[in-house]
Amino acid sequence: MIDRARLTALLARERAAYADRNPRSAAAYARAEYLFGRVPMTWMNKTAAGFPIYLDTARGARVTDVDGHEYVDFCLGDTGAMAGHSPAPVIEAVTRRLSGGLATMLPTEEAAEVGAELARRFGVPQWSFALTATDANRWAIRLLRAVTGRPRILVNSYCYHGSVDESLIVVGPDGRARSRDGNVGAPYDVTQTSRVAEYNDLDGLARELAHGDVAAVLMEPALTNIGIVLPEPGYLAGVRALTREHGTYLINDETHTFSAGPGGATAAWSLEPDVVTIGKAIGGGIPIGAYGLSAALSALLSERSDLDLVDMGGVGGTLAGNPLSLTAAHATLRQVLTDAAFAGMIEVATAFAAGVRKTIDEYALPWSVNQLGARVEYRFVSPAPRTGGESAAHADADLEDYLHVYLANRGVLLTPFHNMALACPQTTADDVARHHEVFAAAVAELMGGPTTA
Ligand code: PMP
Repeated sequence: MIDRARLTALLARERAAYADRNPRSAAAYARAEYLFGRVPMTWMNKTAAGFPIYLDTARGARVTDVDGHEYVDFCLGDTGAMAGHSPAPVIEAVTRRLSGGLATMLPTEEAAEVGAELARRFGVPQWSFALTATDANRWAIRLLRAVTGRPRILVNSYCYHGSVDESLIVVGPDGRARSRDGNVGAPYDVTQTSRVAEYNDLDGLARELAHGDVAAVLMEPALTNIGIVLPEPGYLAGVRALTREHGTYLINDETHTFSAGPGGATAAWSLEPDVVTIGKAIGGGIPIGAYGLSAALSALLSERSDLDLVDMGGVGGTLAGNPLSLTAAHATLRQVLTDAAFAGMIEVATAFAAGVRKTIDEYALPWSVNQLGARVEYRFVSPAPRTGGESAAHADADLEDYLHVYLANRGVLLTPFHNMALACPQTTADDVARHHEVFAAAVAELMGGPTTA
């Protein structure tokens, strides 16, 4: 349906416009010769247009770059800013904390209140803190290996749980497990430490768990890092039944699926994981990760005098549980990402999904739109993929880049890794309307229609 020559020409035109429009960002990028890859973190080179725009300020649902352009931001730090950029209650609380000690190795009273709030929301009662969701996953995995004495972890194909060694595995074209492309410097062959099943494939999961060597299934209740892949009826109940049957623990990684509601997909869908991991959004932009354990699991771990959970046992970090992260989480959970805020965000995201569907329908494009609470994503395939593998097979880098750079040139940001849009408490119906106007124009030009933006 897409005229590829037309797409190539439009993409080149938009990239040239981007370069013209962003001279200060281009110059900053050119000057950054002492940064590896010219960026503070290599993934910042994931941009549709050759160099990233440079941040000046961000507030609420808006970003302003160093060239003075203002954007409606649907990327929201790939969920790190789901509470909006620099939310006022977090800034106020963190500002107070900043002058009161940051790295003392002492607990603060607020930490217990954050634990209680996470317990109320996610249903697992015993919480511990990290600085990133990656580390929360790593440490949860270690605890579950220790408690089961089993060596392997199972994940879904094309999941993402951070740079967790055990998770960089996919189902290959021959149906067999293999290392994910680009698995940099793997410490060992991932097929020796991990098993993998496609999402929504209970037979595949049953087959892999039958080996009896899987300590834990680490999964997102819905995949969010290869488009959004939603559970089919009965799938998540089937996962829970199979994990119980095989003596395997279940970790729900709610880092992104938190968008489903105040207690993530775990609460929204009444799930019963043994462990919940989370990060990013709960700190309102300040680094934090967290993992929560069921009462039974924490009791089992506490009884194990052979496990060093206090000193050098492989779980921990000097700045983990620091006062600043916990102050930020306290303010974010209590005052920003409240039940009422979620209701508003989900309403805005529903309007986002409806508008994207309208344009897709107008041109009868074979694309699909999925929504998970405050998060929406479209994929270039219809019906929506059922598995990570299927979703990965329908990636279209040029088409994605075209839409991203077209939107950016007209003041709208999506997450750079895929076609994801997230609503924060400050995202408005007007912001969504602005996106739809530009998105419709981008599609119209691509399909040979009139230019309207
Ligand atoms: N879990 C999930 C589901 C994620 O999407 C991510 C990152 N996108 C992580 C964990 C890791 O988060 P971080 O990079 O902040 O450690």
